[in-house]
Amino acid sequence: MAESIILSKSRLKRGLQCTKSLYFTLHQKHLEPKPGPALQAQFDEGHEVGVLARQQLGRGKGYLIDLKPWDFHGYVRETKAAIERGEDLIFEASVQTGNLFARTDILKRNTSSGKWDIMEVKKSTDVRRDHIDDMTIQYLISGKAGVAIERLYVVHINRDCVFPNLEELFVIRDVTEQVLENVNSMKGRLNELWKMAKVTTEPVNDIGPHCDSPYKCVFKGHCWQKIPAMSVFNIYKIGGKKWEYYNEGIISIDEVNPEDFSGNVKRMIECTRSNTRFIDREGIRSALSEFEFPLYFLDFETAMYAIPRYHGTRPYQQLPFQYSLHVWRAPESSTLEHFEFLHTNDSDPGRQLAEKLLTQIGPVGSLVAYNRKFEMECLNSIGKRFPDLKDKLEDFISRFVDPLPIFQNHVYDPKFKGTFSIKTVAPALLGDQASYEGMEIADGEMAQVTLRNLITGKYSNLGRCTRENLLAYCRKDTQVMVDLVKWLYATQ
Ligand code: SF4
Repeated sequence: MAESIILSKSRLKRGLQCTKSLYFTLHQKHLEPKPGPALQAQFDEGHEVGVLARQQLGRGKGYLIDLKPWDFHGYVRETKAAIERGEDLIFEASVQTGNLFARTDILKRNTSSGKWDIMEVKKSTDVRRDHIDDMTIQYLISGKAGVAIERLYVVHINRDCVFPNLEELFVIRDVTEQVLENVNSMKGRLNELWKMAKVTTEPVNDIGPHCDSPYKCVFKGHCWQKIPAMSVFNIYKIGGKKWEYYNEGIISIDEVNPEDFSGNVKRMIECTRSNTRFIDREGIRSALSEFEFPLYFLDFETAMYAIPRYHGTRPYQQLPFQYSLHVWRAPESSTLEHFEFLHTNDSDPGRQLAEKLLTQIGPVGSLVAYNRKFEMECLNSIGKRFPDLKDKLEDFISRFVDPLPIFQNHVYDPKFKGTFSIKTVAPALLGDQASYEGMEIADGEMAQVTLRNLITGKYSNLGRCTRENLLAYCRKDTQVMVDLVKWLYATQ
């Protein structure tokens, strides 16, 4: 049984993060949830980045091995054959020694030494510590399998690349020295993992910071079941202190002394323990004095791409494709006006979106956004790309106000559960009608994937999510924001 286990590089990486994760992967696979649409979209994008890297770095040359991902033997066989017939550039080359298997994005013959160089393509914008581990595994398995390695490179995204100059999209970083420094410790760790893989009893590893580092573990839903919905992990802004509590056996907030903290952290603990709501009416009144009618409640939905698609845009730039705008003209008015915009063509939405907004937002009054930095940054980046709109958009930016800090500083309800997300604050204060539950699109991640699907038609596993769902989601965001601000006015 143990002899038939293949430890691929991705399995080994799981094991490096946590041996229990490797155990579940090998022996309790049913505990692993299927990737949701957002994660699947990330995989798809990683694949697109890999294809473009092959085209650019191979300059149209190279031999691609393209089999079913689980056909380990097929990959190894094809790689050997490609090397023997003298290929110099092999994509998805794979090596195996004993039960250890590694696939590499690009294997390139080093013309000076006759050995091989490895290039791993990452869609990050820098080299990370786990990339070095990844390449060290690659280096060790390749060497043992008889494929001698000369240099190792991480190929990552250049965040300064500006479309259409996609020939500048990749940065190639030589990480050979870092890998060589890592070899000895990695040898020991791989031996441990192989011993561990043969054991069929569940390791006793407890949860810890490693559950989220370097990746969010796919088995969190299983291991974290014992942590109640409200615990020390819900206390915001306390960093590693939550693990100190956990390691002392303190999980319930009832056991935390509020006097150990100050400000809104102390208040959160007190409200949770006493199950009471805190309202600082004076503070709310003072904060609302900055709001000037008419109020324009604005929310953007954005898409971002590792490979930029539109003139003047960069990798991972947030591009607003959609907005919802509710206008409340005067405090005594009970009517609201609503405007919306949704761009679903695969073209730059920036100018059209901004020009539309300019016709709907007047020269006076505050723009209201929950966590305004995001909307301000979106407008700022449009202004940079379209200088003729810059002054007008800067005027908008200077008029933003934000309900988020008002809640953070002057209101707390135990139902916030340690977060000031609008999706938690709204139902806690306004009741179930402000909840997002049951909506086809109920969070920003799903909205982003749906948007990208509508724009590019590339992501197929979205179920029934449509243009109408997207409009409903964005409209809900601004409607809820209006209701929260009305709540603040009524409460002050
Ligand atoms: S959730 Fe944490 S403890 Fe459980 S397998 Fe993952 S990393 Fe290990």
